[in-house]
Parts: sequence; C-alpha cells; structure tokens
Amino acid sequence: MAYGFDTLQIHAGARPDPATGARQTPVYQTTAYVFRDADHAAALFNLQEVGYIYSRLTNPTVAVLQERMATLEGGAGAVCCSSGHAAQIMALFPLMGPGCNVVVSTRLYGGSVTQFSQTIKRFGWSAKFVDIDDADAIRAAIDDDTRAVFCESIANPGGHIADLNAVAKVADEAGLPLIVDNTSATPYLCRPIEHGATLVVHSMTKFLTGNGTVTGGVVVDSGNFNWSASGKFPSLSEPEPAYHGLKFHETFGPLAFTFHGIAVGLRDLGMTLNPQAAHYTLLGIETLSLRMERHCENARKVAGWLEKHPAVDHVTYAGLDSSPYFSRVKDICPRGAGGLFTVALKDGYDACVKLVDSLELFSHVANLGDTRSLIIHSASTTHRQLTPEQQAAAGAEPDVVRISIGIEDADDIIADLDQGLAKATG
Ligand SMILES: *Cc1c(COP(=O)(O)O)cnc(C)c1O
Repeated sequence: MAYGFDTLQIHAGARPDPATGARQTPVYQTTAYVFRDADHAAALFNLQEVGYIYSRLTNPTVAVLQERMATLEGGAGAVCCSSGHAAQIMALFPLMGPGCNVVVSTRLYGGSVTQFSQTIKRFGWSAKFVDIDDADAIRAAIDDDTRAVFCESIANPGGHIADLNAVAKVADEAGLPLIVDNTSATPYLCRPIEHGATLVVHSMTKFLTGNGTVTGGVVVDSGNFNWSASGKFPSLSEPEPAYHGLKFHETFGPLAFTFHGIAVGLRDLGMTLNPQAAHYTLLGIETLSLRMERHCENARKVAGWLEKHPAVDHVTYAGLDSSPYFSRVKDICPRGAGGLFTVALKDGYDACVKLVDSLELFSHVANLGDTRSLIIHSASTTHRQLTPEQQAAAGAEPDVVRISIGIEDADDIIADLDQGLAKATG
C-alpha cells in the first residue's frame, strides 16, 4: 500500500522494537554490537552481510532516520551525518578527487559559500560559482573535471526558487549528478528527485528537527545515476582497495552511493550523527507537514504585511505574487514557498541593525527553521566572510535582514515587527 506523506513522516523506517515492543524508536545509546560468532563478524566486515558493527558506521536509531528520509525524499537510500555541512562534504566525497570541481549556485547559505570557495581547496577540489537561473552559464562552467552541479531548492537567505528541472537537464546532458540542498524546503514542500536531482542534502538542524535542538545532516541518493557510464566516478565504479577490490556500483546497484557513504565515508571521515540527535530529529519529522503548513501560512501573511509597510523597500518571499519566483512555486514547491525570506529596509544597514535589536518576540540567532520566529542581519553575521559581490549574489546585501517565520500566532509576529520597525525607522 502506498501511504501518503503525513503517514510516512510518522511511520517510515520505524517498527515496534523487536526486543521490548517499545512503540517509539528507542535511542540505541551503544558504541558496539555483539557478533553472533567469528564468521558473522567477518561477514559484516566484508560487507557480505548487512548488520551493526560500530556506531561510527551504523546505529539502529540513526538507521530508522535514514530510512525515513530516503522514503520522504523518494530516494533509494540515505546517510545521516553530524551536520548539514558534513552532509555536503559526504555528498561530494565519493564523486571528487584532487583537481575536480563542482559547479555551484551563487545563492547559497553563507557557510556553504565559504565551504565551497575556501575550505574544499584543501582537498584539491574547487567550486565554480554561477547564476543558477542561467542555463548557458552552467553549461559554460562545466568542464572535463566537473563532477557535480550543486544548488539549493529554496535558497537561503533570499527564498529564491531554483528551476530544478532546467538545472537537472543541463547536468544530465553533461552526464553529471545534480545535488540539491533541500534544507529550506524540506521534502514536504519540494521533492528534488522528482525534478531530476541525483542527490539531496539537508541540514536536519533546521525545519526537519524543527525546534532548534540539534545539528544533523543527511544525504539522500535517488539511486538513479549510472556511476559506471563515464569513468568519472572511480570511487563508485572501480575496485575499492580498502574492501578487497569490491566495486560498489556493480555490487550494490542503486544503493552504491549509500553503501559507499557508510562503509567508506563514515568509516574514514567519521562525520557520524549520534543516536540522541537522530531521536530528536525523528520526533520532529513526525509533525513536519503540520509545521510546514503553518510556517508557509504565517510567512505569506507576514511577508504580505511587510511588503505594504512604508519603511520596507522590498520583500523577497517567493509566495508573494510580486516575486519573480512566484511562477515557480506551483511547479517546484506546490505546497508553499517555505518560511524564509529577506526584507530590505529603505533606511539601509543602520535600520536593519536597529530592527534586530528592537524585536521582542523574535530571537536574534544564527539559525532558521525553528518553531520560533528568528531574525538575523546576514551581511554582518552568516554572510560576513563573503565579499560585497558574493553577498549581493547570495541575496544578503547590507540593507536586508533575514527572517525565519515561526509557527506562533501570525498577528503576534506582525505586532512585534510593527513595534520594531517603528523604533528602527522612527
Ligand atoms: C544551516 C544550513 C546548512 C548547514 O547546516 P549545519 O547543520 O548548520 O551544518 C546548509 N545549507 C543550508 C541551506 C542551511 O540553512
């Protein structure tokens, strides 16, 4: 039977605990697992049998979350990681090698811009930044050393929506996987695999857990990419010396990326999600659809109100019909444009900083996707390490604040912004 999203967000991957009947997924707070005998241990270490060895690789609580995320995204498998940033490295790790590059959107979370423009160079990797709305620019940036195209579905901070079908087409024509960061949308609003994405990454820290308790990440693999076709992905298509010459793609088919992520990625990079964090995230996901509906409804109301406020220059929320991205909502995220947008104030930088300091209900934090409404001045914080040009390209200019709308009463959120704007621009 094919269950709907609301049912799957509660049940996918979970079953009553076989030992105790516990209905909620137990937190398996254990480092290691007892082998039945020496043959069993050898088979597990050889990847001939699937089972639990050591919690850096696999853990039953984390496994439920992996199966749930794979199901909700419509993928073949998933690997959970210690943070969203860890998930991005884990997504690229099997694809890249020294000298390889990834073509990425300029409209990314500030930390991702830094990770891609600076840190990955230490691995001998590089990133080429392009306007993801410009298919010709993506095509022109792709060269023989490109191993993936990367973008966000609903981009942080501006809420710009990528035309995933168009980007996937360009990647596909070049024989490359498209990796989509679906953090701001969640699978309730957008399912990138249905638009041609190969891999989907998340910071589970945000809407998936939903109440600001943990950091976590996940890579979901569609299982659709032919890793052996081009010879460009030897980690997946060629013999793996650390596993007696095993070929992941040949052996595991659509689960090649997932098995590699666990057996090589987590084993050797160690960016493992802990079971306690997985537990909080599983609890959060049980109410994902309800929360996302309210986030979207509140964001529409608040963005519509802000747009008419005399102190406001413009609002970037794609759920407003004034947005150039409004027409993409129906196609890419038909259930709503999420809870994240930026507001530009006519009085610029100073008014933005004063607004942040004047709000009472809003929390001034470097986070998003909480039940609480959150605000931050991106240019002086999350996007501070970027050049002015990078800030502008990312939608984090000095005269904008980023708002993550919570699930409080919309009238209370608006009242707080009203008094804050009066103080900031009065
Ligand atoms: C927060 C965030 C990340 C990084 O995730 P962490 O869990 O903080 O490592 C990546 N992408 C987007 C869109 C984010 O909002």
